[in-house]
Amino acid sequence: MRLLLLAPPGAGKGTQGARLAAWSGVRHIAAGDLLRAVARAGMGLGREIAAYQARGDLVPDQIVLDALIPAVTAAAARGGFILDGFPRTLAQATAAAELAARLGVTLHAAIYLHAPEAVLTQRLLDRASQGDRTDDKAEVIRHRLQVFAETTGALVPYYSERGILVTVNADQPPDSVAADIQAGLSGLDVTS
Ligand code: ADP
Repeated sequence: MRLLLLAPPGAGKGTQGARLAAWSGVRHIAAGDLLRAVARAGMGLGREIAAYQARGDLVPDQIVLDALIPAVTAAAARGGFILDGFPRTLAQATAAAELAARLGVTLHAAIYLHAPEAVLTQRLLDRASQGDRTDDKAEVIRHRLQVFAETTGALVPYYSERGILVTVNADQPPDSVAADIQAGLSGLDVTS
């Protein structure tokens, strides 16, 4: 099973990614978590990543690819992956497609989770009061949503044109979102 989750901040990529990984037995690779781990490790590159994340800006493609490609390659050899938050730019999508071709694998589906911006903002503000993320602040949240609309959103037509887009309404309880994802996947061949 090789899937990716394409969604604005607050849509529930992390929640659904963990569920899909538990259900399918493949690795859940969350780009943001991986980059936060590199950032926490400190040093020059870590500080650079932390600064991009704190502002809600995308981390440069080459840094993301260096961090993600080894994890994706290893997971592909062990049965697949659920990618959460990668790719996020057209350049990353192209690099991911090249990697897949090199590995001789294909992506089974790109799951697009959508919800109204007011719902996303409220969820992120709720999470801000519980969590420790530097980017869950009102003005940074607004910027992250804008980055999705301006940059990552272009991946919706990209995967739709490739015939693998599964669109799911994320403005529902997690169980209902999971059920809709399962229903969307049931029509796809995920065995090859
Ligand atoms: P969210 O989707 O709620 O913003 P993530 O943990 O997926 O949470 O991402 C947090 C931050 O990590 C992003 O704002 C960005 O700075 C960085 N990031 C994550 N994935 C990528 C990516 N594929 N390309 C560039 N930056 C990324």
